[in-house]
Amino acid sequence: METLKLLPLGLVDRRLCLMLARAIRKKFGCRVRVAKRVERLDAAYRHSCGQYSVDRLLRLLAGYREPPNIERVLAVTLDQLFDKSQDVIAGYAHFRSRVGVVSLSHLVGAKLRRRMVVTAFHELAHMYGLTHCKNDCLMRWRESSNEKFGLPSHFCRKCARQLREVRG
Ligand SMILES: [Zn+2]
Ligand SMILES: [Zn+2]
Repeated sequence: METLKLLPLGLVDRRLCLMLARAIRKKFGCRVRVAKRVERLDAAYRHSCGQYSVDRLLRLLAGYREPPNIERVLAVTLDQLFDKSQDVIAGYAHFRSRVGVVSLSHLVGAKLRRRMVVTAFHELAHMYGLTHCKNDCLMRWRESSNEKFGLPSHFCRKCARQLREVRG
């Protein structure tokens, strides 16, 4: 059975990671293992503003896949992420290297859990090869990461079918 490694990056509450692992297991039907926390990945970290470059970070995360059974790695961090255009983003994932990351930096209060789970589902679906979708769907794409938090928590029929197909 395929395994996803959930990697707490920095001081992420372990209970939150375990809760996320349960939600992913239920939604994707894969095995999820919460790995030992990694303090910081310095080569991708911009100390002056406490942010990670997602591109660099994903390259480093590829090194955390353990063949043969760890097929995907999803990191969870409290730090901010920025992309090539220097925008702060909620999450990012690569299909080919099967790695992704979710940031909890903008998530506070009661909605934290739901938003974390929804963002993780979205990024994980990218790791399974799904692209953005225009339907009322987890894969709906929005310009700003804040709007992304308004994502529904379900896949549309088209995306759910695609996910079933790739998962076999
Ligand atoms: Zn996306
Ligand atoms: Zn969809």
